[in-house]
Amino acid sequence: MHYSELVEVYVELEATTKRLEHTHIISEFLKDVSLDDLGNTILLLEGRVFPRWDEREIGMASKMMLKAINVASGDTKDRINKEWKKTGDLGTVSYNLIREKKQSTLGSHELTVKKILNNLRKLVTIEGIGSVDKKIQLVAELLTSAKPNEAKYIVRTILNDMRIGVGEGSIRDSIVWSFFGDKLKVKYVKEENKIDIEDREKYNEYVDAVQRAYDITNDFAPVAEAAKKKGLKGFDELEMQIGVPLKVMLALKVDNIDEGFERCGKPAEFEFKYDGMRMQIHKNNNDVKIFTRRLENITKQFPEVVDYIKKYIHERKVILDSEAVGYNKKTGKYLPFQNISQRIKRKYDIEKMSEEMPVEVNVFDIINYKGKSIINEPFEERKKIIKKIVEYVPKKIGVAKSIVTADKKEVEKFYKEAINSGNEGLMIKKLDVSYKPGGRVGFMVKLKETKENLDLVVVNAEWGEGKRSKWLSSYTLACIDENNNFLEIGKASTGLKEKKEEGLSFAEMTDLLKPLIKKEEGKEVVIKPKIVIEVAYEEIQKSPTYSSSYALRFPRVICLREDRGPKDISTLKIVESLYNKQKK
Ligand code: AMP
Repeated sequence: MHYSELVEVYVELEATTKRLEHTHIISEFLKDVSLDDLGNTILLLEGRVFPRWDEREIGMASKMMLKAINVASGDTKDRINKEWKKTGDLGTVSYNLIREKKQSTLGSHELTVKKILNNLRKLVTIEGIGSVDKKIQLVAELLTSAKPNEAKYIVRTILNDMRIGVGEGSIRDSIVWSFFGDKLKVKYVKEENKIDIEDREKYNEYVDAVQRAYDITNDFAPVAEAAKKKGLKGFDELEMQIGVPLKVMLALKVDNIDEGFERCGKPAEFEFKYDGMRMQIHKNNNDVKIFTRRLENITKQFPEVVDYIKKYIHERKVILDSEAVGYNKKTGKYLPFQNISQRIKRKYDIEKMSEEMPVEVNVFDIINYKGKSIINEPFEERKKIIKKIVEYVPKKIGVAKSIVTADKKEVEKFYKEAINSGNEGLMIKKLDVSYKPGGRVGFMVKLKETKENLDLVVVNAEWGEGKRSKWLSSYTLACIDENNNFLEIGKASTGLKEKKEEGLSFAEMTDLLKPLIKKEEGKEVVIKPKIVIEVAYEEIQKSPTYSSSYALRFPRVICLREDRGPKDISTLKIVESLYNKQKK
């Protein structure tokens, strides 16, 4: 398939923000895509070059892209920079400049979807000396062969910033409409932006089937291929693969024990809520892999955990869900997350780190048992299996501490015990439910102290003054609303250190933020929302200054949350509820 056909779809999608219309556009398009191109097309529609679970990333910063546009268009860097400042989008910049150039020189080559994907994937393999120049050259070649609109979306794909607003829900539903739409008599009525469905119940069954297929593969490409090849039956052949990370189930928040019972029923399971990091652990005989909740592979950084899994998990093939929590080696007391956070990105002295900052693994769920998905088994059954296969070795590994009860008094006692032994609170879990990858469905809820830190994303920053002038030293922070909009909530400049040895430093933050700069205006820079930090504060106030209409009083940066992506941050709802509680 020609890339230009896909680009036409991007253009159509970008012209509307309506979810149903997105679904309609994509589903109509997918109907005609050959099986051979289907997987690749789905990936590119999602703005991806690799599936979600694949840790490879192109990792090309805006500054490098600017160079590639410079080589391809022949325009000066000054001009490109100016255009960039004006539009804030290098995709649009390359569209404008390539268009000008194409008017004066020969036409473009025909690019195919396959070729685009192959070339973009090549970018990842270029390493070592001279790799920067080689990458720039490769992108420049692609841009030179591209039509203006193609160039725009090539650039955006590389920068991981598609701006077409297609969510997972739209991709899922478009697979249903595309491959089962005729059978289900799904009709999109554009004028009213609604769908007519003959049998809503049956339709929902198909949506659920596609969602389940996606849940175990974590990739829409094989799901669409299966649907096209064999219809619903095709999904039966999709298997969960050990080694391929899945999205983790997420928790809702409750304010008290009664609310916990309301959500999870009586009796429910109550577990310690450890203040550590989520670890999804895959074991395939002697091959162990550990992933964060963002599906990053952190196996190398936690050699002791690999060792525990090999020795103390008495089953050959499993996927486990767990929380690894750091503790003080001398006192044995649990330490807050920030202490072990440094281990996530660590590339050297790993053994020393694991000696100095050991973690204890608390297994609380199981997703795959003996090589087969068991997400549809009730939690109670899954827990039984864990208890059977996880050997308890103090300060190394065990099953998350828990009670099953319907008695509020007993829960109160257990809650106190949790807090007193250095935990954040309790998790409450419904006994008879399946595991929902990626879902915040209320099957597990959290109960913790009211004063909680927020996880926020950096959306703006400012260059410092005087001796801080080489650093981005003040950060505008945002939470997220239901429609995935980032809303500003305050500015933080304290909590970071001037010297690297003392903790998260300004220099380190600057290194992280610089490649994400989208726009510069004097001292202020606009940052692509990617870096998540944990922030403490004195109080939440109402404020007209920020787009969230709240402001943090005395915000203080606690640590980087490398285990979280921009979509995992604190929501506006959480901020609102914290604010309301404060008032009480
Ligand atoms: P929060 O990060 O506040 O949304 O709380 C949910 C997180 O708590 C999960 O993602 C886990 O990383 C962590 N957690 C700690 N202990 C448990 C537990 N026993 N069960 C489930 N999650 C836990």
